Amino acid sequence: MSNLIPDDLLNPDIPVPEELRSNIAITTLEQIYNWGRKMSVWPLMFGLACCAIEMICTAASRYDLARFGMEVMRPSPRQADLMIVSGTVTKKMIPQIVRLYNQMPEPRYVLSMGACANGGGPFKEGYNVVSGVDKYIPVDVYVPGCPPTPQALLHGLIKLQEKIARQSFRTVPWYQKGPGEAIPIPVLGPDLLDPRQVEEIRRRAMEVLAQKQEAAATAQPQRVAEAAASVTEAPAPRRGLSPEEIARRKAEMEERRRAREAARRAGEGGGEQA
Ligand code: SF4
Repeated sequence: MSNLIPDDLLNPDIPVPEELRSNIAITTLEQIYNWGRKMSVWPLMFGLACCAIEMICTAASRYDLARFGMEVMRPSPRQADLMIVSGTVTKKMIPQIVRLYNQMPEPRYVLSMGACANGGGPFKEGYNVVSGVDKYIPVDVYVPGCPPTPQALLHGLIKLQEKIARQSFRTVPWYQKGPGEAIPIPVLGPDLLDPRQVEEIRRRAMEVLAQKQEAAATAQPQRVAEAAASVTEAPAPRRGLSPEEIARRKAEMEERRRAREAARRAGEGGGEQA
């Protein structure tokens, strides 16, 4: 009879006779609990850009996510264990991503798929792109590539299974005392504002303001001295022409007019003679 109980469920410290292995498994509560969780991860499905095509391809029949118990991929945070961030994370989208993450029940995991979600990718430092989704939500597994192939995504999912298998009841955050804290939703205004950084932004702004005020206070006496040194005698205001000058200019104009008139008459007399 074949062995129906997976080897990773058996406790190697307590060997089970070969003939009983199909019927008896001796293991720890933690091990069987993690085995059940890692073999039934339900992804939350949404796509942000081209990487989403590879994710959709991974869910199709050729790659068969059902082998890992992950075929229940729904566009809803209800009962979802895993958020796959596949594609470019824009500043416009990150408030929605954080809201969806907050709506997922614990335990929850995040897989960042592709260069864009990992760190901005080809659009890093773009005016509208977040330089990595891990600036806002905690990421468990990063899958590199632009885009990662379906095989790469499967490898990332297997790594996540290994991480789940290593977790312990005693240390996982969702079994600690006290309520879990939701991540503050980023605010999209002229730029993206992370509410967790408001105090830091205020402190830095006050420092810059104090530096500017100090520089202005030291520069003030120097500017006053420079302005005083640059003062010179003002030019005399422009005055109008004296009556004598006006009379002289009128006489000149009249003389020129008479000369032009005499020349015109002389020209007309010459034409008659010809
Ligand atoms: S990593 Fe490459 S393939 Fe994936 S969303 Fe960014 S640009 Fe597209």
